[in-house]
Amino acid sequence: MREISHKLAFVHDTPPTRYSDVFDPNNGGVQARVALGDAALLDLAVAAAKKAQPGWAATNPQRRARVMFNFKSLVEANMNELAHLLSSEHGKVIADSKGDIQRGLEVIEFCCGIPHVLKGEFTQGAGPGIDVYSFRQPIGIGAGITPFNFPGMIPLWMSGVAIATGNAFILKPSERDPSVPVRLAELFLEAGLPEGILQVVQGDKEMVDAILDHPDIKGVSFVGSSDIAHYVYNRGVAAGKRVQAMGGAKNHGIVMPDADLDQVVNDLSGAAFGSAGERCMALPVVVPVGEKTAIALREKLIPAIEALRVGVSTDAEAHYGPVVTAAHKQKIENWIQTGVDEGAELVVDGRGFTLQGHEEGFFVGPTLFDHVTTDMSAYKEEIFGPVLQMVRADSFEEAVSLPSKHQYGNGVALFTRNGHAAREFAARVDVGMVGINVPIPVPVAYHTFGGWKRSAFGDTNQHGMEGVKFWTKVKTVTQRWPDGGASADSAFVIPTMG
Ligand code: NAD
Repeated sequence: MREISHKLAFVHDTPPTRYSDVFDPNNGGVQARVALGDAALLDLAVAAAKKAQPGWAATNPQRRARVMFNFKSLVEANMNELAHLLSSEHGKVIADSKGDIQRGLEVIEFCCGIPHVLKGEFTQGAGPGIDVYSFRQPIGIGAGITPFNFPGMIPLWMSGVAIATGNAFILKPSERDPSVPVRLAELFLEAGLPEGILQVVQGDKEMVDAILDHPDIKGVSFVGSSDIAHYVYNRGVAAGKRVQAMGGAKNHGIVMPDADLDQVVNDLSGAAFGSAGERCMALPVVVPVGEKTAIALREKLIPAIEALRVGVSTDAEAHYGPVVTAAHKQKIENWIQTGVDEGAELVVDGRGFTLQGHEEGFFVGPTLFDHVTTDMSAYKEEIFGPVLQMVRADSFEEAVSLPSKHQYGNGVALFTRNGHAAREFAARVDVGMVGINVPIPVPVAYHTFGGWKRSAFGDTNQHGMEGVKFWTKVKTVTQRWPDGGASADSAFVIPTMG
């Protein structure tokens, strides 16, 4: 059976003792196994990173940026191969895999401008003969722990900024689709990145714990589900690291009575069902405001959902493919049953869906619930599948309060033609990323990505300037160059600029 391993800066010939299966979601079988690393392996990777990092940090930022430019060209040249590899393990359709990689590349494009970003600040004449300047230095060795649902984009969010700012970076990707991160690390080497600056260690909880406890790893970036994000945040911070830990989501799409409903249905179909709903910025909850809006929206949504084409990842006509594992398929179908048991109206049932010729594939049909209420656990929790829940609201106020009161606060969207309502909504809603007539408001790479409440622990976001802040520490120098005359008297009180 094909074996997927780590990408290390040294020869490692100790055979792994543990493996995890990597499935073929389109057909249901096991297609490979991935070696699971341990603390001893991590020690070696950290030692290699420690050796390489000072030289990389001393490489001028323009040269570091050139590696980013080269890497971008190489990924573009290999896009097709990468997208097929990604789809074969994740299950998303090829066009969506290309989007996954492309969104990561946009962070690399941001990193191509790193010399400008790292210029620092300078105050000439802050006191008599005194100048002050501040600049950012890499934290040293950083690590990233990533989820299965964006095996291209999220490793690049983290590794791009960490490396461009002069750190060495160790990535622990999801054990469910581990191949693309390894391939990206190979392309970084081909682009001119020195050995040891980016390594990939495969593993599960054992490796995550080793990363969190390792004294030489100074920063950990995590993306995954909320309970694990919370655990990673607490354990990493207790070990004295800086940690950013992004968690789960339950994003709402609010539909005002004046919204263009045809546009809303188009947007919702993609945002709720694209990638089989396995996106932290999916829109699994729709909130029509007013009874008339609910009736009209439901009427248009049902045929649109029934027309969705579920297919294998390589089917160019398919809107979405299988979910990642049989266990995840089962979990989604259990949530659908919970919704029914809790009294929601199951309007379109995606359970029991089979695709001819791929009967063992992990497919879930598109599902629509109406009359979902806020006391239902199927509403409170993340399902992470192709399931859209309609929660009816009587007023704008109620609609604003729904996502605001929800435990998650990743993304939210408002559909309206009313500028005042949009402005009020954006200002008041208690959620980190807001879309106005934009169903998946993932910020562009030079802005920054991060949710609120249980969607993120820690206080800096991914990529953009927030990412630069996370992967660097600021140093401030106050300097005086005496003119060679009499030296100043000793000062026993704190110097002020008064
Ligand atoms: P997950 O939490 O199961 O796994 C994430 C990472 O944690 C993986 O690398 C995994 O190996 C590791 N891990 C798993 N169990 C662990 C444990 N007990 N202790 C320590 N580490 C452990 O998440 P997933 O299923 O791979 O990804 C889907 C989740 O990620 C969803 O909840 C989704 O909303 C979330 N997500 C969030 C964002 C965001 O930016 N907020 C982005 C993408 C995905």
